[in-house]
Amino acid sequence: MTTTDLELATYPGLDERIIVIRAGDEVDCVFVVTERLNVLVDTLATPALCARALELVSAHIGDRPLITINSHMDWDHFWGNSVLDVRTPIIAHSAAIERLRDPEAKHVLSEKQAEETRFKDVEIVPPTITFSGNAMALHGGDLTLELIHTPGHTPDHVAVWIPEVRTCLAVDAVEYPIPEVWNQSPDNLRKLCASLKQIRDLHANHVVLAHGQTADPEVVAGNIEYLTKLRDAVGRVPVSSAALEGLHERSGFQLEDFVSLPADMPEDTKNFYREFHKSNLDAVAAAHLARVDFF
Ligand SMILES: [Zn+2]
Repeated sequence: MTTTDLELATYPGLDERIIVIRAGDEVDCVFVVTERLNVLVDTLATPALCARALELVSAHIGDRPLITINSHMDWDHFWGNSVLDVRTPIIAHSAAIERLRDPEAKHVLSEKQAEETRFKDVEIVPPTITFSGNAMALHGGDLTLELIHTPGHTPDHVAVWIPEVRTCLAVDAVEYPIPEVWNQSPDNLRKLCASLKQIRDLHANHVVLAHGQTADPEVVAGNIEYLTKLRDAVGRVPVSSAALEGLHERSGFQLEDFVSLPADMPEDTKNFYREFHKSNLDAVAAAHLARVDFF
């Protein structure tokens, strides 16, 4: 995936204080202007992209302090951190610190640096403020940003709910066409479903995703329906490792058997989500084998 320049984006009816910054088809981050604070939700995949993002919204910055949120420690959402002034607070869930302590964080960086030169100056800069538990809030005056721990996609994932304008910045807790579970443990599948239901129950007018370029709240219902269908289909398979093995190769268990993909979706994007589907299917099969109900 290559990224050219960034562009500002919005959605019909989205409050103008919420500005979507789009890095091609790689990822979106969001800048929120409130009376008392400017809040940048995610810093994109490189310091250069993050610097450009701040340049694009410079007319809105004024003299309010900048607060940054890292929704989760996946490379495309926080590798721009190092370009921020060292005094800029970076807020994340405490599970983010654990992820960064894991050698995997450095491993992903060296792998990506070997693949693409644009990552050469990425430095892993950890958050400066973390919260544990389920939620914290930024009180901007006219807008409140409620940070909601929404694990399942990753253990540290945080979504942002802005109640005054009924807008949820769901980041990767909701994805179009399908979400992806962190690993195959039934516990993470349960967390993914619980986070989706929590977002559904907000009854948001806008659910802004980081991938898929949509803010349609129907995507949340679609993600829940997909996981329900997957649970039901796997639930009809006998509970034995032999019966559950290699399900992803069988007819009736392909991604397109559970969701309809847009005809104009590029083939590599379809393949990307087929990998998500395979992870989800493996997790659902593992839950079935362990006789764990994850909904
Ligand atoms: Zn992502």
